Amino acid sequence: MAVLQIVNYPHPALRWKSKPIKSISPELVDTVRTMFDLMYEARGIGLAANQVGLPYRLFVINLTADPNEAEEEFVFINPEITKRKGTTEGEEGCLSLPQLYGDVKRSEEITLEAYDLDGQLFEITLDDLAARAVQHEHDHLEGIMFPDRMVEDKRIELDAQIADFEVQFRNQQQRGEYPSDEEIREELSQLERNLG
Ligand code: ZN
Repeated sequence: MAVLQIVNYPHPALRWKSKPIKSISPELVDTVRTMFDLMYEARGIGLAANQVGLPYRLFVINLTADPNEAEEEFVFINPEITKRKGTTEGEEGCLSLPQLYGDVKRSEEITLEAYDLDGQLFEITLDDLAARAVQHEHDHLEGIMFPDRMVEDKRIELDAQIADFEVQFRNQQQRGEYPSDEEIREELSQLERNLG
C-alpha cells in the first residue's frame, strides 16, 4: 500500500462518502496504528480515514493528543450516532485545514454505536470535547468539513484562507505531488471495491 499521509483540502477524499468496513484485516490494524502516529505528529486529537486518503468508515481519537497516553486511544469503526441532546457552539480546527479555526454548533451530548479494532460492537455516550471531536470526525466520513457547518457570515471570513488551500493543492498537483482529481477518485473507487 502507498505511504499514508494527511491530505489537505481540497483533496477529493475529503469530499467522499466513506463505505463501511466489512472485516478487520491485519492491514487495517496497521493502518489504524499509522493514523494514530500521523495524528500525534500533527498534534491532533482526531483523524478520519478520509484524511489519509482512504474511503473507509473509520476514525481515531485521543483527546490528550499525547502518544504516551495510549489508554486514551479510541478507534471507531462503522460508527452510527444514535441519539443527540442539546446544542453547543465551540471552536474547531482540522488537520486537513491547518491553522484554520471557526465556531461550529454541535449536539451537546451524543450516543453512538461503533465497532472497535477487535470487531466488538460498543455503545458510548459522550459530551464536551469528546462529543465535539466525534461529531467532527463522523462528518469527515460523510465528506463534510467543519466550515460547511459554520454560519454563513462567519464562514465568509475564512474564504480567503480556504482559497489559499485550493491554490496550494492545485500547485502540488501541477508539480506531480498528487495525481489529478479524476485519478484520485478512481483510486478511491478501487479502494472501495477492495473492501468487497
Ligand atoms: Zn477534521
